[in-house]
Amino acid sequence: MTATDFHPLADSVQPVFDTVRTRSPHEPEFQQAVHEVLHSIGPVLERHPEYAAAGIAQRIVEPERQIMFRVPWVDDAGTLQVNRGYRIQFSSVLGPYKGGLRFHPSVNLSIIKFLGFEQIFKNALTGQGIGGAKGGSDFDPHGRSDAEVMRFCQSFMSELWRHLGEHTDVPAGDIGVGGREIGYLFGTYRKITNRHESGMFTGKGTGWGGAEVRTEATGYGAVFFAQEMLAVKGDSFEGKRVGISGSGNVAIYAIQKATQLGATAVTASDSSGYVVDDAGIDLDLLRQIKEVERGRIVEYAKRRPGARFVEGGSVWEVPVDIAVPSATQNELNLADAQALIANGVRAVSEGANMPCVPEAVEAFQSAGVLFAPGKAANAGGVATSALEMSQNASRQRWAFADSERKLREIMGDIHRASFDAAERYGVPGDYVAGANIAGFERVAAAMLAQGVI
Ligand code: NDP
Repeated sequence: MTATDFHPLADSVQPVFDTVRTRSPHEPEFQQAVHEVLHSIGPVLERHPEYAAAGIAQRIVEPERQIMFRVPWVDDAGTLQVNRGYRIQFSSVLGPYKGGLRFHPSVNLSIIKFLGFEQIFKNALTGQGIGGAKGGSDFDPHGRSDAEVMRFCQSFMSELWRHLGEHTDVPAGDIGVGGREIGYLFGTYRKITNRHESGMFTGKGTGWGGAEVRTEATGYGAVFFAQEMLAVKGDSFEGKRVGISGSGNVAIYAIQKATQLGATAVTASDSSGYVVDDAGIDLDLLRQIKEVERGRIVEYAKRRPGARFVEGGSVWEVPVDIAVPSATQNELNLADAQALIANGVRAVSEGANMPCVPEAVEAFQSAGVLFAPGKAANAGGVATSALEMSQNASRQRWAFADSERKLREIMGDIHRASFDAAERYGVPGDYVAGANIAGFERVAAAMLAQGVI
């Protein structure tokens, strides 16, 4: 998408978007995320002149603080490597900054800003006291030894630690940052600060302060959200074919929950291609390949009779009833949406952040497909992170079943808030508008109360 593709916005928000484009001309993903939110909240500003008078929209699109730093480290061959680190602390009006760290070669300022901006509204939707942030690096963990990943994490944290803390900024994982990386990052923070400050990082190992269900929460939550949307239509996961992209943290647990609800999850993918398994993805095998061996998805088809691997191509050409895109931003384009619609898809729930391009979202909505935006559908991860922070603060430890029940309730609440906001603003069934409005209302009320700051 180029900047000129953005359709005009309401008069109340167009100048805000013009300023973003002028100020951040080389940040297409950030512009895309801002455009979508401004489009939804135009009617809110018209109904609430006090928000317009207080410049809420102008202020919310500008991060409170942007941190960029050098990350030097030495690889196993003794060669010096230099990566760039980021932390965008977007809004702390609802609580300490909260949002994941992404390690992927595609990481740049635009991507981290889009993710940080989305995080503000997602975190607001959870109903918990957490602000919005995101961070990461253009470091690529693929093919790196454990020792290299550890040295990188130590260097990364030797700068980032000074900006973090349980009351200041609490990171978690994202693409390329799982349990291994969180361990190395937390260990470095503990060493530098001489504090075992459990609440400064979420997604920790369950043996050292991590909460049950945090690992599963994003994938489970995206399925729970789809379950809520289907229930409104008297439908369910029972007997459905589910298409899932990615094969990382979100994808694996979306597959697990969809299967537990009586569906057959038939696809998984990575950046090399996708696999189709009509009998249902064998989760133990997928986890062995992806989590233990850190291998490629082609291995799955080699070891699983009846499964096939398609190199390149689009996973969305596989006929499914429900789709849960769970890899990365802008992975599902208009042609993919058209293929899914032609194959009779009923619901799409974004496990990843902004995986569907705007034209794909419009196509789903026009075709009457239930569509859940990532900031609502994948909010289960950060909601469970907030539960981890609560458990750390009170030195408690909740059982798996209790945590899952709480996650289930929170996803129901987010669905209801998004659904109701869409009704209130005359766009029933539009979960994109509903989620943006419900999240924005909470942030705007807090910004108004706390003054121009
Ligand atoms: P992982 O690193 O565990 O997995 C990412 C998966 O997506 C991998 O299979 C990866 O394949 C694939 N992928 C990544 N980038 C690309 C690309 N450019 N093209 C094709 N495939 C790609 O990450 P997560 O599962 O944690 O995150 C997935 C998505 O969910 C992201 O959008 C993230 O922001 C979002 N999310 C994650 C949360 C969490 O709790 N983890 C919370 C909320 C949202 P390969 O290995 O080949 O790169």
